[in-house]
Amino acid sequence: MSAPLWTRADFLTATGGEARGDIPDEITGISIDSRTLAPGDAYVAIVGDRLDGHDFAGAALEAGAALALVARDKLADLPEGGRYVVVDDPLQALRDLGIAARARSFARIVAVTGSVGKTSTKEALRLALARSGKVHASVASFNNHWGVPLTLARMPADTEYGVFEIGMNHAGEITPLVKMVRPHVAIITTVQPVHLEFFDSVEHIAQAKAEIFNGLEPEGVAILNKDNDQFDLLKFHAGLAGVRNIRTFGEDPTSDSVMEKMSLQAGGSSIQARILGQEFTYKIGIPGKHQVRNSLAVLTAVVDMGADLALAGLALAEMQAPKGRGAVIKLALADGQACLIDETYNANPASMRAALAVLGETPVRLPGRRIAVLGDMRELGTDADRLHQELLEPIQAANVDLVYLTGPHMHTLWERLPKARRGGYADVSTGLVDMLTSDVRAGDVMMIKGSLGTRMGPVMEALKKEF
Ligand code: ATP
Ligand code: MG
Repeated sequence: MSAPLWTRADFLTATGGEARGDIPDEITGISIDSRTLAPGDAYVAIVGDRLDGHDFAGAALEAGAALALVARDKLADLPEGGRYVVVDDPLQALRDLGIAARARSFARIVAVTGSVGKTSTKEALRLALARSGKVHASVASFNNHWGVPLTLARMPADTEYGVFEIGMNHAGEITPLVKMVRPHVAIITTVQPVHLEFFDSVEHIAQAKAEIFNGLEPEGVAILNKDNDQFDLLKFHAGLAGVRNIRTFGEDPTSDSVMEKMSLQAGGSSIQARILGQEFTYKIGIPGKHQVRNSLAVLTAVVDMGADLALAGLALAEMQAPKGRGAVIKLALADGQACLIDETYNANPASMRAALAVLGETPVRLPGRRIAVLGDMRELGTDADRLHQELLEPIQAANVDLVYLTGPHMHTLWERLPKARRGGYADVSTGLVDMLTSDVRAGDVMMIKGSLGTRMGPVMEALKKEF
């Protein structure tokens, strides 16, 4: 049997907590959600914007939690007789647990940040490194002030490769997170105008992403996208932070890892590249040039992590699109098949362009058409209307035949859309369902995307039900 994630003694030492009740010797996992908790997990009561985790401590214990890590000043409100570890601040205790997990670890650690592509890159690294050793990686997009310490606290002592996604919405958020993670390798996928609501300029976003260098281990490696407009600025910040090893990736032939040739197909791509000087041919199982770019960063990191490049290449061929990020769904129409590209997870200008490009590259059966169904991109601040209107260019470049739009910002794009390309506009996303149901034909390829809040997911679900 493998060692438990935490022994009772190590858990108490790391958190500095006081034990109440009969806490088992072995703690097998860490959870912050009583609904998904596995028996034997320690439940950490976190106070969020809307919910207080202490309200679910009782449910967590009933679900088989080894203990509930709770705040001293909330103890009086909790069910009596429970197994509690009492601290001043459970979130700080979770951070302390994460720091202890990092301190005991012999793993090579890679951290991924960037405006888009963090989860894609993290999932590719998980697959690629798993062929060389035991991997521990972030779940979903657990990349914030609780997601990063939670992922660290969950890292088994015998992990060989740790993969961490680190995100941010504001300046100053990455520094404390990366100082906990202390990566050997840090990747910045790309810097794009995404959270402009909280930043004055893309340069300020780059500066905030560059905080990832603040936690890099001595002799650590920074992996940067040479094709990105912000490359020089990121490199400058890496220098300021004392980073001596910088590797670059991209199409720019002077990159350390260069994309030489690629063939993009609907189900994935074949790539010929030079990875840190080695000629390397491989396939990736998910479509889009943006994923090819991400894969260059992944393979560069694989080499710097001391893992096997050839095995990593084989693993990437088996990649599948995560839910809502480019998965292809077949629709059965009365007269044949149509297909739907599910991009409903989220949207910003960079990922919108990437998804439109994939739509343009997807083979369409005659007389099939390429259809884009788009909802607003949120959190873009005062530039929002302009950034929506500018999608006209990638729509035309991808030869999209028909465009269906929803949301107030998309309405400003609708007004600029040539009549021939106008499919339909609706104020609320579900208003598009009837239009699409009657308009879609066999052979069509339809891509659906929008920010989470624009509720494009239900549009897709309705279409799946219809066909
Ligand atoms: P989040 O901040 O929401 O966690 P993320 O940075 O983890 O996002 P992903 O989930 O990997 O990003 O991808 C989000 C979207 O961006 C997807 O639609 C994906 O296809 C697209 N995308 C992924 N990588 C890139 C890239 N390098 N450039 C542009 N778009 C990309
Ligand atoms: Mg993510």
